[in-house]
Amino acid sequence: MSELIIKNLHVNIGDKEILKGLDLTIKQGEIHAIMGPNGTGKSTLAYTLMGHPNYTVTQGEVHFKGRNILELEPDERSREGIFLAFQYPVAIPGVTVANFLRTALNARRRAVNADDKGMPIPEFRKMLKEKMELLKMDQAFAGRYLNDGFSGGEKKRAEILQMAALRPEIAVLDETDSGLDIDALRIVAEGVNALSGPELGVLVITHYQRLLNYIKPQFVHIMLDGRIVESGGPDLALHLEEQGYDWVREKYEEIV
Ligand code: ADP
Ligand code: MG
Repeated sequence: MSELIIKNLHVNIGDKEILKGLDLTIKQGEIHAIMGPNGTGKSTLAYTLMGHPNYTVTQGEVHFKGRNILELEPDERSREGIFLAFQYPVAIPGVTVANFLRTALNARRRAVNADDKGMPIPEFRKMLKEKMELLKMDQAFAGRYLNDGFSGGEKKRAEILQMAALRPEIAVLDETDSGLDIDALRIVAEGVNALSGPELGVLVITHYQRLLNYIKPQFVHIMLDGRIVESGGPDLALHLEEQGYDWVREKYEEIV
């Protein structure tokens, strides 16, 4: 079983320390949620796991399948089986969703077997059709240019479809912090629910406290000022929905 192990992670943006010793382990088959107020470093965690160059790891480790993934390029992390969804995905005009997915999928197959000739097109089409049916997506979506003119919800759908096609072992999904994006959250949640199982570990990062209306994480973590300060089960998210973050701030006032 694969697990993503984050140990004592400290991350700077420029000279400013944002993550201040974060520990978290996510196993295949588990759904975790990190929730926390704006500005606590949730997206910093996602970008750092992705390997974004603006985020400097000053201390700590991130291990996956016995490797320190912080030493790997973003594409290598992906080929190892980690899927990182972008909060603001870029558009690639001229490249269709289907083309993009086939290229990504074949790169991942070649990482496993250097002689792999790629998934035969009929097999790819069949797989894509099945995944789109599973996610209740219109088949025409596959022929559109990736994220080009996509609505927020469509971008989320494109990410979830990527996740379905690439079948990662661990997926990290960073949500937008805007309360207007309830639709996008619902799309992500439905996708995660449809794809979850013993093969997939998920970390959903969100500001949105009503997450539990849509998704059922087994583990809920509260992040404050660059650290995870509370961990628990789904009841912790319910508590947040009722009480907001004030009690967490009060409880951990001394460290903020
Ligand atoms: P969250 O996703 O929890 O809202 P972020 O990880 O986006 O939090 O941001 C954490 C902190 O880092 C915030 O205080 C924010 O102001 C700061 N920050 C984010 N991006 C930059 C940047 N490019 N330069 C300096 N500080 C930044
Ligand atoms: Mg964020």
